[in-house]
Amino acid sequence: MSWLECPAGRHWGTMGAAGLAIFAPGPLLLVLRRAQGSHHGGTWGLPGGALEVGESSRDGALREAAEEVAGFDRALIELIASYRDPCPAACGWSYTTWLARTRSAFAAQPGNWEHTAYRWTNPAAPALQLLPALAAALPRWRPSGDVLTCSGPVVDEESHEFL
Ligand SMILES: [Zn+2]
Repeated sequence: MSWLECPAGRHWGTMGAAGLAIFAPGPLLLVLRRAQGSHHGGTWGLPGGALEVGESSRDGALREAAEEVAGFDRALIELIASYRDPCPAACGWSYTTWLARTRSAFAAQPGNWEHTAYRWTNPAAPALQLLPALAAALPRWRPSGDVLTCSGPVVDEESHEFL
């Protein structure tokens, strides 16, 4: 995996990247604390990472969650929608976030060295220092009550509507 150089900055992965936002009743959002030394180390973000060649954002988000969250099981979640955020410089790179829900907050652990802790947090009023990109995106997703409702553009190459 390598960096993609772009006028807007460097992107991790040349094929784009994807992450998974898992919401539980509360509402609660599963976040992971990024290891010191990583980009924005110490802040809290989602499981996610660079896509592999030929991999869909959906498969990439699920693969990264399985790698980074011990305790995650695909059967625990239901995918709801996806948000694709293209690079502001229109270089072709994009980050796609898949939103998912689970019936209850499951026990998790960091699955590898990339994170040092996990927490289920209130997405409407997170008491944690979130990764800036996550903090900016959260209000658009509008998780409310026990039912997650989404607004805004849902423009993913695999899913052009709510699932
Ligand atoms: Zn770019």
